[in-house]
Amino acid sequence: MILLDGKNLNKEIITNLKEKVSQLTIKPGLAVVLIGDDPASEIYVSSKVRACQEVGFYSEKIVLPNTVSEKEIFEILDKLNNDKKIHGILVQFPLPKNLSYLEDKIINFINPLKDVDCFHPLNVGKFFAAKRIDINLLVPCTPKGIISLLKKYQIDLLGRQVVVCGRSNLVGKPVSILLCLEGATVTITHSKTKDLFKITSQADVLITAIGKPKYFKKQAIKEGAVVVDVGINRVGKKIYGDVDFEDVKNKVYAMTPVPGGVGPMTVASLMENILIVYKKQINFQK
Ligand code: NAP
Repeated sequence: MILLDGKNLNKEIITNLKEKVSQLTIKPGLAVVLIGDDPASEIYVSSKVRACQEVGFYSEKIVLPNTVSEKEIFEILDKLNNDKKIHGILVQFPLPKNLSYLEDKIINFINPLKDVDCFHPLNVGKFFAAKRIDINLLVPCTPKGIISLLKKYQIDLLGRQVVVCGRSNLVGKPVSILLCLEGATVTITHSKTKDLFKITSQADVLITAIGKPKYFKKQAIKEGAVVVDVGINRVGKKIYGDVDFEDVKNKVYAMTPVPGGVGPMTVASLMENILIVYKKQINFQK
């Protein structure tokens, strides 16, 4: 079985970006806003800030308590929208439960030019309307990372049957669009799908993003399939994917580990997105 090693490819991408950034006179800058004290979000934010430091980006981490007022949040975002040092803004989601009603408002408020997550409707629209993916097109980080990883391992997508489990705006929907652009025949499944395992067991490539630990066992997988496990599920102190790795490892051709698969690719793609939005803003200013 081939291990689709996202950690290794992350290092490669970071090294390449570092070289490019060392030649820039104005450093690209990212602001990360973390609201509340969710331990998983804290880990994600730290890894994003650490990656910025490795690449040589300027970064700011703004931590706010979950008692922060709506007014304060939007004052901070307004400042960041107008801050010349900051080219990318990222608000770590999910927000604490008491503020979750603000997610859409925040997505719409962030300057689309600084929207490194590609969540703003304007950027989502451009992405959905794209006829091909060129290197300057802004694409959501996790789906972009998944495609980069499949390409690195020369996994052919043209004409292949790909099944995506999950239809979220963050993963399922955008990765399906990218796969379609790569020439795959894509089936999107979700919690209302009937006979899910019958569908997944026909997939040449299976992408799982449902958030249920070890949900997919070997009966759900086609012999020789490629499996990309996006799930990050914390059970006690351990992290599991959506796929039962030990159960399926002898049946698949290639598979991502969890952790060390899609997670590091999300961070690497974020770094690439920072450079994309930076270039657009620098050209804008000229
Ligand atoms: P989400 O918004 O909760 O969406 C989950 C999707 O899975 C929904 O479409 C849901 O269907 C579907 N689903 C739930 N239970 C199902 C079942 N039993 N059978 C089939 N479909 C089912 O989650 P998300 O934000 O997309 O994230 C999914 C997972 O990926 C989570 O574990 C998350 O932590 C992880 N993740 C990892 C990364 C990374 O970098 N590795 C990045 C983002 C997310 P309905 O729409 O019908 O409810």
